[in-house]
Amino acid sequence: MADVLIHDKVFTPFISREIIRQRILSLAGKINHDYAGKNPLMIGILNGSFIFAADLFRELAIESEISFIKLASYKGTSTTGHVVTAIGMEENLHGRHIIIVEDIVDTGKTLSAFLPEIHQRQPASVKIATFLTKPDALKFDVKADYCCFEIENKFVVGYGLDYDGLGRNFPDLYILKS
Ligand code: 5GP
Repeated sequence: MADVLIHDKVFTPFISREIIRQRILSLAGKINHDYAGKNPLMIGILNGSFIFAADLFRELAIESEISFIKLASYKGTSTTGHVVTAIGMEENLHGRHIIIVEDIVDTGKTLSAFLPEIHQRQPASVKIATFLTKPDALKFDVKADYCCFEIENKFVVGYGLDYDGLGRNFPDLYILKS
């Protein structure tokens, strides 16, 4: 596979679609096992997670539901600090088993700010499924329960992840060429 140019940067092939598919099958197998009979509600965080969420959801063989939200970030008061709120969350989460679906947990800032809003709605359980984590970049107390790949602390595009709007449609994952 060849390098690609997006805007001003060159990206090089990193994880192929075949390997991605294998990991998704294995992750779906774990979720099928852990959530049998629980009708989990997957909540995909837009935009980045839409391809991962769709591929993962298609492989679930158990009764399960999916919904998508967008996160809006703003600076709260001095007591509330950084606030991340959900746009489009209409489901009643009370008593439900929630699986938050992310494209990537980088510093963990977004999820650590957003998870309290989920917990306020009194779900039965909350777990995080993410396509990628960057363990060396993690700064907040967020633990991914299901993760396809742990990667180095470099910028990646493809498989739903963009660089300034472009690259989301690449079936493979690319990494910034140094
Ligand atoms: P966090 O709040 O965990 O630091 O950041 C999470 C968000 O940052 C992700 O949902 C994603 O939108 C963006 N992000 C972090 N690292 C990357 C990366 O390597 N590539 C792309 N395309 N987005 C990233």
